[in-house]
Amino acid sequence: MAPPQKVVVVGGGPVGALSALYAARRGYAVELYELRDDPNYGSQSARPDIAVIPLALSERGIRAIAEAGVPGLLDRILDNSRPIDTRMIHTRDAHGNIKNIPMVYGPQGQVNNLRCF
Ligand SMILES: Cc1cc2nc3c(=O)[nH]c(=O)nc-3n(C[C@H](O)[C@H](O)[C@H](O)COP(=O)(O)OP(=O)(O)OC[C@H]3O[C@@H](n4cnc5c(N)ncnc54)[C@H](O)[C@@H]3O)c2cc1C
Repeated sequence: MAPPQKVVVVGGGPVGALSALYAARRGYAVELYELRDDPNYGSQSARPDIAVIPLALSERGIRAIAEAGVPGLLDRILDNSRPIDTRMIHTRDAHGNIKNIPMVYGPQGQVNNLRCF
């Protein structure tokens, strides 16, 4: 049998990581290259002050991960998440005072999952 064709993904952000999973699911041998170190750990440029990065995961992000077809992956990601239904826009009024304006997610009550990495 011929060896699987190789797919090279450059960039390990959300799009690269998902593309790598989708390609692997289709049977390709995947190589993923990421330029930067994990900002949380181990490098000279590590930022202990931002060691926890809160990340909002949208409904479509959740669907995209589920459809990657990796057993247990979505559960692992969502395990420590909590739902958020509102985001806050911070702005200033005409007098320079800070104004916080809540804005709901999605017209049909879609709820995001907030996950801290
Ligand atoms: C402050 C901030 C907060 C955000 N919060 C959220 C949030 O809570 N939820 C959310 O959904 N989105 C959030 N976003 C948006 C989100 O970060 C982007 O939409 C998302 O990262 C885009 O993904 P991407 O894979 O297209 O690009 P990127 O995440 O930019 O990934 C590209 C990757 O490619 C790597 N790369 C570049 N050149 C090379 C190279 N030559 N070789 C190897 N690797 C390379 C880069 O290092 C990078 O890691 C936030 C953005 C910012 C700035």
